[in-house]
Amino acid sequence: MNDDYDRYDLLVVGSANADLVVEVERRPAAGETVLGSDLAVHPGGKGGNQAVAAARLGARTALLARVGDDAHGTLLRDAQRAAGVDTAGLLVGGAPTGVALITVDPSGDNSIVVSPGANARLTPEDVRAASGLLAAARVVSAQLEIPLDTVAEVVRALSQDTRFVLNPSPPAPLPAEVLAACDPLVVNEHEARVVLGDAAGETPEEWAHGLLALGPRSVVITLGAEGALTADGRADSCVRVPSPKVAAVDTTGAGDAFTAALGWRLGLGEELAAAAAYAVRVGAAAVTRRGAQSSYPTASELPPAPA
Ligand code: ATP
Repeated sequence: MNDDYDRYDLLVVGSANADLVVEVERRPAAGETVLGSDLAVHPGGKGGNQAVAAARLGARTALLARVGDDAHGTLLRDAQRAAGVDTAGLLVGGAPTGVALITVDPSGDNSIVVSPGANARLTPEDVRAASGLLAAARVVSAQLEIPLDTVAEVVRALSQDTRFVLNPSPPAPLPAEVLAACDPLVVNEHEARVVLGDAAGETPEEWAHGLLALGPRSVVITLGAEGALTADGRADSCVRVPSPKVAAVDTTGAGDAFTAALGWRLGLGEELAAAAAYAVRVGAAAVTRRGAQSSYPTASELPPAPA
């Protein structure tokens, strides 16, 4: 074990986006122009969200990501630092900062165009150059808003002591070497169905068994207001973890908060179901406030576990 191991509870490798949001009466049809509200710019991206969520809970957190040399990049770095995330691994340049162009109508339905920008330029070489960061983390968490080759390089760079958590979002076919490293693979219902294809089945328990057969060491399925299900690969190991009942106002980014909290607690040595029981409280707190990063709780703001 190297001397630096344990400097970070969680290293997040992933995307950082500026979410550009305009409220509209009606989302435009092809060829149409509509007027909307003033522009709101929010820090987002699954990687950025996870890092902020973990740091706000008190985890020693670092982010390996790439932004552009532009105002959005500065905004995203400032948001990470304000939450307490170590940004030594936040690389700059190569393309404009990733953006999500979001229009929201009064019913809450939205249309989103994502320009990955610098996220698509986070390369396997960047991962190799960040070997010190990787070696200093108990847990590494990734998603799929960066190139799959880059995620595969993260898996190759892991030491035996480092746990790997993957949320395959947006869902895509995963190579066996990536699946085999996941401990756990974290999916929502939609992601489970895409990864499993026609063989998915209908119940979360069936999805868990199907996913385990693909090779991850463990699986966690998030179930919205129902909480989560964990399965660690032993026979009959599926555990339902109920979420606290809360008044949900906006679920944006709840999955990212859940996954970050889960990874952190696993790194502290908790069993999978216990870590998920903490993470559902974090996800539940996040849905009680608007936005993604703006909705993430501190440890003292969590609802109690359900009785
Ligand atoms: P999103 O895409 O909105 O970020 P997701 O679809 O990836 O989320 P969900 O399963 O909807 O993930 O939610 C993640 C976690 O957040 C759940 O496991 C649960 O703990 C919590 N959560 C989500 N919705 C609710 C809700 N209505 N009430 C309580 N907890 C919720």
